Amino acid sequence: MSNPLIKLENVTFKYPDSEIKENNFAVNNVSLEINKGEFVAILGHNGSGKSTTAKLINMILTAESGKIFVDGKDITDENMTEDDIFEVRKKIGMVFQNPDNQIVATVVEEDVAFGPENLGLDPKEIRKRVDEALELVNMKEYARHAPHKLSGGQKQRIAIAGTIAMKPQCIIFDESTAMLDPMGRKDVMNTIKRLNKVEGIAIVLITHYMNEAVQADKVIVMKNGSVYLEGTPNQVFSQPQKLWNAGLEVPQSIELIDKLNKELGFDIPLKVYALDECTEIIKNKLMKE
Ligand code: ADP
Ligand code: MG
Repeated sequence: MSNPLIKLENVTFKYPDSEIKENNFAVNNVSLEINKGEFVAILGHNGSGKSTTAKLINMILTAESGKIFVDGKDITDENMTEDDIFEVRKKIGMVFQNPDNQIVATVVEEDVAFGPENLGLDPKEIRKRVDEALELVNMKEYARHAPHKLSGGQKQRIAIAGTIAMKPQCIIFDESTAMLDPMGRKDVMNTIKRLNKVEGIAIVLITHYMNEAVQADKVIVMKNGSVYLEGTPNQVFSQPQKLWNAGLEVPQSIELIDKLNKELGFDIPLKVYALDECTEIIKNKLMKE
């Protein structure tokens, strides 16, 4: 087993201007690992420390204690140089919630070129990366368009293209589908899955949507700045009471089966079912009664 791409060891962080009271940590003793090529979803109530964790990994914030390794390098080492930080940001891309805040140019392809230009690549390589990135997010035909005229989902895919053009090993999506309509959300999710499955880019998907989280290899649930639950989607979603304790909803199929088990004495295993599968199981149970 090779080294994890990202590894947090007992990481703690407190905002300087947060209320002065004990244990008021935004991130409290968090340990977690993201492997190369892995698709990890991070769930958690508002204020549970998800965005702060993402910013610590991307070196927007600096941990107060604990260690963070990116591709084997200790990024909490105080001797990190500007160049080292740049290397980390190249490896770990980030896409945020509001697509409007991430667009910097007035033409789509110039926007996507912004990152690679900062890498100091030669124009031919930049051209190639921009074309490939736009192709990957299915936005090639919009290369000469004005970003502000695009839909939210399209803008978000342009932001993703800008990140891909840096050739990252991992992209962190911090609620990047939250402001989109259902169509835009689906487009962006399909893009994310393709980047993971086809391009082998590791994905950290911070989300409120359970149907997005069930598609991950691993789910991490945060509560009050700490990791509260961790496992495969089936392991995590088979514990609805814990999810409710963390202020989260559970997928409706799980809620339904949990109710049937409790109220009708069924013993249907609690795991993530597709709708058809769930219907079939319940139908069979009812017919046996
Ligand atoms: P999440 O992304 O899970 O909603 P955050 O990481 O944004 O959670 O926030 C974790 C905690 O840190 C919350 O209590 C929040 O109020 C606090 N916090 C977040 N950003 C700031 C900030 N810029 N200054 C002070 N406190 C902050
Ligand atoms: Mg957040």
